[in-house]
Order: sequence, then C-alpha cells, then structure tokens
Amino acid sequence: MTQLDPRTTPAGVARNEAPARDDALARPFTPGAPSNDPSLAEFPETLARSTPVDLPDPTTREFVEQWRNASYNCYSSGHKFCREVCPVMQVTRNESWTPTAFHANVIALEQGQLEVADIAADYVNCTQCGACELRCPNTLFTGDFYRFRTRTVDVVKAVRALAVDQGIHQSGWRTWNERTNSRTHEPVLGEVDVSQETVRDWADDLELPIGGETVLFVDCEAAFYRTAVPRAVAQLLRLAGYEFGLMDEQWCCGGPAAEMGYVDQAQRFARHNLDNWRSTGTKRVLVLDPHDYITFTEDYPKYFGDEYEIEVILVVELLAELIRDGRLTPNVSIERTITYHDPCRLNKRKGIWQEPREILRAIPGLIFNDVDRVTQWSYCSGGGGGLPVEKPELTAAISARRLDHAAQTGADLLVSACPWSERPLSEAGEARNIDVIDIHELLAESLGITVGGSRGEVGDRRGGCAGGSCGCGPAAPAAPGREE
Ligand code: SF4
Ligand code: SF4
Repeated sequence: MTQLDPRTTPAGVARNEAPARDDALARPFTPGAPSNDPSLAEFPETLARSTPVDLPDPTTREFVEQWRNASYNCYSSGHKFCREVCPVMQVTRNESWTPTAFHANVIALEQGQLEVADIAADYVNCTQCGACELRCPNTLFTGDFYRFRTRTVDVVKAVRALAVDQGIHQSGWRTWNERTNSRTHEPVLGEVDVSQETVRDWADDLELPIGGETVLFVDCEAAFYRTAVPRAVAQLLRLAGYEFGLMDEQWCCGGPAAEMGYVDQAQRFARHNLDNWRSTGTKRVLVLDPHDYITFTEDYPKYFGDEYEIEVILVVELLAELIRDGRLTPNVSIERTITYHDPCRLNKRKGIWQEPREILRAIPGLIFNDVDRVTQWSYCSGGGGGLPVEKPELTAAISARRLDHAAQTGADLLVSACPWSERPLSEAGEARNIDVIDIHELLAESLGITVGGSRGEVGDRRGGCAGGSCGCGPAAPAAPGREE
C-alpha cells in the first residue's frame, strides 16, 4: 500500500507536484527572516491581508471595524483553552456556544459569510462570567507594565447590542426590559409590587435616612425578593457606627439591560441614578451586589467619562475592613460546615476573593472547607448575563453542577456574596440538602442581629440562618416565585 503524502491537497493533487513557490509557502517561515526561501518574495502582499468585504449594513460595518482586532486575536490563536472553564460549555458541550465561536462569528460577519440574524441567538448562551478571559493564554498580566485581557464578555455584549440595534430580539429579554422600563426596576417577582413606591419597603422598620454623602444602593433582586440581604447590610453598618442613607429615587442600575443589549435603556437608567445622587449631595455609593458593582465601576465611567465623580465601595470589602479595625467583632458561634461561592463578577471579573474569606474566617464556630480552585477557576452559578431569563434550564444545570462541587467539600452550607446567584443556587441546594446563605446575612447573625426579611422562597422554607444554629428568629413567610 502506498503511503499518502501528508501534504496532499484536498483535491488529491500532491503538493510536491506544484510549482516551487507553493512549496515555499507550505513550509513554516518567519516573515522577514533572511533565511527565508527567496521565492516567498514573489507572493503579492494581499495574501497576508483579509479581503475587505463591502458590507451593505452600516451598523454591521461599524461593529466589525470596532471588534475585528479583538476577534482576530482569538481567531488567529484558536487554541480553545477557554472551552473547559466555560459554564455553558460544561453543561451543553455545544461548540457554537463557546468563546471561540463567539469570536469566529465576528470574522464571518466581517467576511460577509454570516449576518447578525444568523448568530444572535447563540450569544444568549453566556453568563458573562469571565472565566474564559482568565483562562485564555492571550490574557497576560506581567508585572506592572503589561496588562492584556481577552475581551469575550465585551464581544458578547457588543453582538447582543448590535442585534437589538437591528431589531433582532430574544422574546424573554425584550419582555424583561419592557417591564423594567415601565417599573424602573427589574420584574423579579410576580405577585409582589415591583415599583418605585415599594423599592424601600425592605427597610420600613429600620428608620434609615434618605440621601446624604454616602448612600446604599440595593439591587432589584435584593430589594424585592431577597430582602434579608439589605436588612443585614444596613444593620451591620449601623452596628459599626458607619453613617449612610438610602437613595432618594433609586432605579435599576441598568447593568442587566446593557448585558442583554438594551444599551439605550441602560444609559437612561444610569443618567437618572447619577442625577439623583447629585441632587442629594451624594459622593459615595455603597454596593452590596456584584452586578451593580461592575456596572458602577465599568459601565458608568464609560457612559459619563470625567463627569462621573462618584466613589463606589463594595460592602464586602468595607465589612472586612470594619472587622479588621475592630468595629465589628463576630461573637455568636455558628456551627456549620461551609464552603464559599465566589461570584464571577467579584472574583473572575474584578479579582476580589480575599475579603469574603477574611470575613468567613472571623466568624466563630464555622468549619470552612474552601473549594479546590480558590481564585480564578471558581465555578459559576449560571445566574448572570440574562441567562436565567432566556434559558432557565441552563441556569439550573449550571447551579446543579456548582452544588455538586460544594457537596464534594463536605459542606452543608454554601455561602455566596451575590443575591442574583442565591435563587438558582438555593433551588439546586435543596435537592442536595445544602443550604445557601448570603455572606452579609451570615455575618449579621454572628453578631447577634436578628436580620428579618425574606431569604427567598427556598431559604424561607428551610428556616433562618439556614438551620438556625445561631439561634436567630423564625423565617419570614415564603415569597412568591419569579415572574414568567
Ligand atoms: S478565547 Fe483565548 S483560549 Fe479561547 S480560543 Fe480564543 S484565544 Fe484561544
Ligand atoms: S464569559 Fe463565561 S459563559 Fe461567557 S463564554 Fe466566557 S466562560 Fe463562557
């Protein structure tokens, strides 16, 4: 049997029968190296350039102009290191829903081989967790002089925005954003009134001032659904003697709208919030939710530039500092075996993973079994990037996987620092008999605070302090489920 020449062309013509200059091109070479085969010089320069396609649609043209470099950065590498850390890939094994595909599609748009309508639905399948960006070998942080990060999250957001701009909508996202627009808050609940009039109801009995130099911003999920979280934060800050007020007229931060591609709406909401902070002389905003934190520290500066002079403080970092300074000293023993869920937007997107662990280690009685991958390779809950609105079944599968990892540590309590992760995690935890609690709630209980409020449907059903070992009060009545 004749052995096939490995350089045989698809048409079956042996390469070694081709003209000599084709052979030169087939061998690896370094452009410009003096040792190169001289016949390489005969090739026209256009071979090394992409052939520009005259795209008829101006918005697509503008989009590829902006994103072609970022996309070629991946496309020309294509090593797919990112696949296995992608939470969506882990539960679907769908190659069209990978960071690699998200970049390659942009090249196909540029080459006129695909249109936005062909690919828009694929971009639903991303939680914007940032794991792929950290795993990508092109991402490189070297000393203090070289910082490069692959921009998959931004590419996904940009394609979603382009789709909306061209009138291509995902039905769940369109409804979600229409309702957010009319209520000025995300429609997180069905039967409970999500409105401007009720956004501060969680604090009814706490007698907190309105406005002032420092205000607490409470995300929609926490303000309307998991009200134990802001109640815990407010009471912790008061116990530490830290002065703050509530926002005068808080609207949704706009981050979820931006994540789903509804950028005009996101900017309108951002404008309202900035103007409202200014009207009450606010200089500092405390943020308890990682999604708000990323919106205020990344989106708002892009929208407003130098005009944006607000200091943004993440409550988890502040609480760790207050413990360090001796202004909060947890002394109620909580005898549970815990592990910690790193919210993607804190850890993978912002590099914040130490302070939550500092807080947990300050709470007496806890046995803290950390996950095996403590920093960048932490797991996702599936609750971000609008995924639960369009594909709740994928969110549930990702959360189930997350709880399997928690179970492997021997924990009976999973602690999170993100209200948006806690609903899907709690639902997945119930099947495994693992409770889910928010880190602010847990810290408050270790300081003897009876938090009150709701811990969401599953949390309320399973009891206070996720088992009540600290002696906290009975759970609040169960809240209704998420609006369809
Ligand atoms: S995102 Fe990074 S790791 Fe993934 S295929 Fe592209 S270049 Fe490779
Ligand atoms: S950001 Fe997360 S979900 Fe999106 S492609 Fe990257 S790893 Fe997957």
